Amino acid sequence: MMKEKIRALATQLHGETVSLRRHLHRHPELSFEEYETSAFVKSALDQLGIPYRSMANTGVVAEIRGDLPSEQVIALRADMDALPIMEVEGREYGSQQPGVMHACGHDVHTSSLLGTAKILQSLKKEFGGTIRLIFQPGEERLPGGASLMIKEGVLADPVPQAVIGQHVMPLIEAGKVGFRSGKYMASTDELYVTVKGKGGHGAQPQQNIDPVVITAHIITALQQIVSRVADPKTPSVLSFGKVIANGATNVIPDEVYLEGTFRTFDEAWRKKAHTHMKKMAEGIAESMGGSCDFEVRVGYPFLVNEEKLTAEARGYAEDYLGAENVVDLDLWLAAEDFAYYSQVADACFYRLGTGNTTRGITSAVHTPTFDIDESALALSTGLMAYIALRKLGN
Ligand SMILES: [Zn+2]
Ligand SMILES: [Zn+2]
Repeated sequence: MMKEKIRALATQLHGETVSLRRHLHRHPELSFEEYETSAFVKSALDQLGIPYRSMANTGVVAEIRGDLPSEQVIALRADMDALPIMEVEGREYGSQQPGVMHACGHDVHTSSLLGTAKILQSLKKEFGGTIRLIFQPGEERLPGGASLMIKEGVLADPVPQAVIGQHVMPLIEAGKVGFRSGKYMASTDELYVTVKGKGGHGAQPQQNIDPVVITAHIITALQQIVSRVADPKTPSVLSFGKVIANGATNVIPDEVYLEGTFRTFDEAWRKKAHTHMKKMAEGIAESMGGSCDFEVRVGYPFLVNEEKLTAEARGYAEDYLGAENVVDLDLWLAAEDFAYYSQVADACFYRLGTGNTTRGITSAVHTPTFDIDESALALSTGLMAYIALRKLGN
């Protein structure tokens, strides 16, 4: 049976998938600079005899067509970029690029998709349908590699019935996966705000316009938008993590600079909130004699897991792994550019457990100590292949 064949191939391939992952881990590249990674993916596809083309500069799109008749198409996605983080020392397969690290597991996603490709290629005679493999650049940086790939037609000619992606999660033990149906991750927008007043001696406030006090009012008042204007059924978050008022004990500065983030789960509300925040901040500044420059840099949309597809994928995962190894995911207000696929196609983004509490592998993604339990690399290749083939009706 297909399931047993896939499982056997995934186990057989495990060592090879681990070496692919370690190679990528040693040679991380920042967003939109994935030149060697892209070449590495292409040479692996060459070895498998899988045709591909380049897209979005460093992106790669490949297709495997089963020999049995079927017009169905499904897309599987991996991201390839690393982060500007200095990895802890002393790891056998540690980053050889100082200050750059695969701290979000995109090395795992890329090596896993290559493993899945190998499994599918060796089963080619036994299934119908086309599997499109998407290796995208720049997940970690705006405008997001996914948006560029979509613009260049990665979901066209023909349009896939589904797009599936997986992402490491250290909070889930290796051997398990997590699913969530419906809205899963938030839209994210960056806020860059300058509040202008008139600086001077701290002892003579009457001669100045104090941008620090204006800013204090703006920060407090804007929380009203989250607590009073937003629909309580739609989660929203507004946080300012950077506030610079570069005066002194006795110096009122000319201006205050802020950076923050706004996250939510509704595109119409998101646009409305932008206008609201800007209007409120400008109004407060103006009423207090100052002015405010409120810039919103629009980031990724929210990520929605299409319900029918997610139920199917989850069912296949339970079948492949046992229901006890498939867990529920919470709503999460981080962002992910897979959201772009989910806005234009039926999509499902699930989590691959990569933690191991007994072995102390618990560090969060985006930290210098992040690591994975590599036993997850047998599951990651096989499960993706199994979901794809079942979804294609095999
Ligand atoms: Zn990340
Ligand atoms: Zn990531």
